Amino acid sequence: MNRIALIGAGPSGLAGARALSLAGIPFDGFEAGPDVGGLWNIDNPRSTMYESAHLISSRTTTEFAEFPMTSTADYPSHRELLDYFRAYADAFGLRERFRLETRVTDVSPLPGKGGDGSRAPGWRVTVVTADGETTTSDYSGVILANGTLAEPKVPSFRGTFTGEIMHTSAYKSAKVFDGKRVLVIGAGNSGCDIAVDAVHHAASVDLSVRRGYYFVPRYLFGRPSDTLNQGRPLPARIKQFIDARVLRAFTGDPVRFGFPKPDYRIYESHPIVNTMVLNHLGQGDLRVVPDIDRFDGSTVHFADGSSGAYDLIMLATGYTLDYPFVDRAHLNWTTASPRLFLNIFPPSFNGLYVLGMIEASGIGWQGRYEQAELIAAYLAADAEAPEHATRFRRRADDPWPDLTGGYRYLGLDRMSYYVNKDAYRRTMKRLLATLPAAAGQGTASRASSAALVSSTPAATSTPDEGGRA
Ligand SMILES: Cc1cc2nc3c(=O)[nH]c(=O)nc-3n(C[C@H](O)[C@H](O)[C@H](O)COP(=O)(O)OP(=O)(O)OC[C@H]3O[C@@H](n4cnc5c(N)ncnc54)[C@H](O)[C@@H]3O)c2cc1C
Repeated sequence: MNRIALIGAGPSGLAGARALSLAGIPFDGFEAGPDVGGLWNIDNPRSTMYESAHLISSRTTTEFAEFPMTSTADYPSHRELLDYFRAYADAFGLRERFRLETRVTDVSPLPGKGGDGSRAPGWRVTVVTADGETTTSDYSGVILANGTLAEPKVPSFRGTFTGEIMHTSAYKSAKVFDGKRVLVIGAGNSGCDIAVDAVHHAASVDLSVRRGYYFVPRYLFGRPSDTLNQGRPLPARIKQFIDARVLRAFTGDPVRFGFPKPDYRIYESHPIVNTMVLNHLGQGDLRVVPDIDRFDGSTVHFADGSSGAYDLIMLATGYTLDYPFVDRAHLNWTTASPRLFLNIFPPSFNGLYVLGMIEASGIGWQGRYEQAELIAAYLAADAEAPEHATRFRRRADDPWPDLTGGYRYLGLDRMSYYVNKDAYRRTMKRLLATLPAAAGQGTASRASSAALVSSTPAATSTPDEGGRA
């Protein structure tokens, strides 16, 4: 039964399939949607993509190291990205490793206990196909790569709003705003993108915010901002000091446009890669309004006592982690997210592996690939060099590595699985080196080190971007 189930064929699942294939580990992939590409496939019913979306991290810092994108755009559109993931899957024969339109509905431990009393002896995976046919198979391990930005987080508000309410997860096209008075709640990356979309269609657009944000331009010094200063991380405090000043020089002070002053330092929450929103505020196309107090019919009352009338509210309130097919206890859930060694391994090493549960500025798909590579190396060691796997597991008994890079992240739910890309990738590399090289290991990563070195310009400090949140 030494076979792995892999759930999801988005960027993380494809990375998993590639790493398992290279390591020669047998697996079955399951994808609920009609094709590979995950949320980048706008036709995947679970996709939270919208028509105007483009990468917010630049192409070269985001792509898989062994498979550069053919697009020449610095920030390609979601359609180009879907083509890219399809091409990646085809180039390495990954598509045929997945059963498409097959949803995993249950992952349960097989009865009995493993040799050390905590590791499950395997997992029973139940899937249902698009025709409603249910099948069950047993696996030695299960990799969960079902995404982190699919399940909407919908806060509750006092009162009742009688207009239309929509969450960004359901938003596809700006046509929904035609002629309407729109209120966007939340100014994360999706909220700001969508507010900018709305400006061109709506009768009016207000953006309700609770806290201040740092706005990073897509270009600095004529280059995609996140391509500057790659591979030479500065200490957190120095980077925060310099980057806050660089941003202020380029984008000015967002407080001028009505945003509250951030009560945290840059990079302690995810930066907003959108300066168009500031342009529209400057043009008077858009207005910043305070946090919501309550709804009353079509009127929204704000925390400062002001109010406005609206036809449509767009909730840009983010997403919540969701692994609905497995009991939370198996993933060591704390309140907001599973607490996992390296954001991957439940501390009991029960044979579940979470792939893609990282939010980070600029980690890209190569960062997800490196997670997959570590999982594959661990699985290979568990099968062929168990003493190495045992030693690896023991590391989880020691204090866990600090993945924050020295940044004090805000205590928000979505920051509970946030990592600093440099600290994370360094730790992954160090731990990968403790495991015997699995067959093919390094093939897909070697290009990444080369890319990091070759893209290192003069040691200026400039803002990171990428990820979402
Ligand atoms: C608008 C938007 C813009 C973004 N921009 C960037 C960016 O610029 N840079 C960046 O790095 N990241 C960006 N992201 C983050 C994005 O989440 C990642 O790029 C990436 O898609 C994560 O890949 P994933 O495979 O982990 O998850 P997903 O892409 O969500 O894929 C998960 C897959 O699992 C499948 N699945 C789910 N449940 C089941 C089940 N029960 N059974 C079988 N299959 C299942 C889904 O159908 C899906 O195909 C953006 C996200 C959004 C929404």
